[in-house]
Amino acid sequence: MATPHWLFGDQLGPHFVAPGEDGPARNAPVVMVEARSVFRRRRFHRAKAHLVLSAMRHRAAELGDRVRYVRAETYREGLEKAFGAGGLTVCHPTSRAALRLVRSLDGVRVLPARGFLVPLDDFRAWADGQGGQRLRHEDFYRWVRRGYGLLMDGEGPAGGRWNHDHANREPPPRGARTLGAPAPYRPREDDIDDEVRRDLDRWERHDGIRFVGRDGPRLFPASRREALAALRRFIEHRLAGFGPHEDAVLAADPVMSHSLLSSSLNLGLLDPAECVERAEDAWRSGRAPVNSVEGFVRQIAGWREYVWQLYWHFGEDYRRRNALGHHAPLPDWFLELDADAVTARCLATVLAQVRDTGWTHHIPRLMLLGSHALQRGWDPAEVTDWFHRCFVDGYDWVMLPNVVGMSQYADGGRMTTKPYTSGGAYVHRMSDLCASCVYRPDERVGKHACPFTAGYWAFLHRHRARLERNPRMTRAVRGLDRLSDLDALLREQKRRAEGPP
Ligand code: FAD
Repeated sequence: MATPHWLFGDQLGPHFVAPGEDGPARNAPVVMVEARSVFRRRRFHRAKAHLVLSAMRHRAAELGDRVRYVRAETYREGLEKAFGAGGLTVCHPTSRAALRLVRSLDGVRVLPARGFLVPLDDFRAWADGQGGQRLRHEDFYRWVRRGYGLLMDGEGPAGGRWNHDHANREPPPRGARTLGAPAPYRPREDDIDDEVRRDLDRWERHDGIRFVGRDGPRLFPASRREALAALRRFIEHRLAGFGPHEDAVLAADPVMSHSLLSSSLNLGLLDPAECVERAEDAWRSGRAPVNSVEGFVRQIAGWREYVWQLYWHFGEDYRRRNALGHHAPLPDWFLELDADAVTARCLATVLAQVRDTGWTHHIPRLMLLGSHALQRGWDPAEVTDWFHRCFVDGYDWVMLPNVVGMSQYADGGRMTTKPYTSGGAYVHRMSDLCASCVYRPDERVGKHACPFTAGYWAFLHRHRARLERNPRMTRAVRGLDRLSDLDALLREQKRRAEGPP
């Protein structure tokens, strides 16, 4: 019999069982373990637990007799139940903890990672070749484009430039409540979802397992078929408008032209290569403009790959980095996704999106949720854990660089050259969220003081010594000297630090 192959719950597409030189055996029997301890250890968003379980069970149904699907307390127990002590292969898992586990098991052979464009060894060689300089995303991204011939015309970038950010950072259209993009694909639930719901109810009632957030109708694909339908719909109907308002936020249109493909990519239902290739085809056949296609390719072949590689590159103790010495615990209103307790319209709006769907796009994550946590000095490890638990697409590998590095600057600038945070003026420019808010983006003290504007100045003040040494922050920090009301602002910030803004 061919050596059985073990699939983790984020290795669900056909590319994880395709045979090959470094792949599983042809027609290898498959083992999948649904380990309940995962849900016992952390309080996940219920919609995320639902999605992951539904996707695993859909995959098992597709594989039919080829799979042994075991429900167990732990992975170890599940594997023993499934195959005793025999040999197994497994593709390189996506977390350090899972890698440690598979390496500690007798008879398990770890195959190279799948589900990403760039092999880990190739990245290591590229990083070594950077001569000890900071690893820049833009350099990495161009290297990937060249290496994979993505959006290239000969030696140069297709469309004449590598970077179309200048065309992709527009504020929302004036006066519009929505972007008017065609609706995204949404799946229809089936019997497997009903069974998952019943199990989750039972776990909550009898098993002491607790969730956060609402588990409304499932919004994200749980099978290859659904994921392909979502990709098709995005490429054909929504990609063309992806670029220009990529960074804008509209209260009544949380999705705008975003692809909603992150959970499908991270569950392994889609392979990144097929996503970027289809996007490039859309440009070459005149169905989408180059700025939108480049923006999308940049997200997947650039940011997603870069974050995956940095997770391994930055090493084991990256998760404990806390360069700014932030130790405040996350308050209950945030932990409970209690959007109704929040007065600031921007935060209330996006926290409600997280509560109801387990998703918001990248600007609410970075410039609202993350920025608020940074300004309030919340513990970066707790913030990382919160994002991991509450987002349908959250996994260890994607969380650490995005939260510890990009959003909380807890690595002291290893990933980004400056902290990503702003006052209310940025939120006002890029969204319609300030219009009917009781707080005013241009006020920093008093009862209408915007929590982001006041929080920004308080953050700069707290870290002045460190930030004024950073050439990209010097001007902003010097702005503190022009504030005649800084003392009053700091007093108010201290008083308000506990409650919801
Ligand atoms: P689109 O805007 O349509 O982008 C296309 C794809 O690009 C995404 O589906 C995703 O696969 C990829 N992508 C873009 N940026 C990133 C990035 N920085 N890291 C990884 N992939 C990226 N993404 C996750 O997949 N999981 C997370 O848990 C996650 N947490 C984040 C936390 C913070 C604080 C920040 C700032 C970003 C985070 N991101 C995460 C990145 C990004 O916000 C999401 O990938 C994106 O919002 C998902 O929606 P979408 O599929 O519509 O993305």
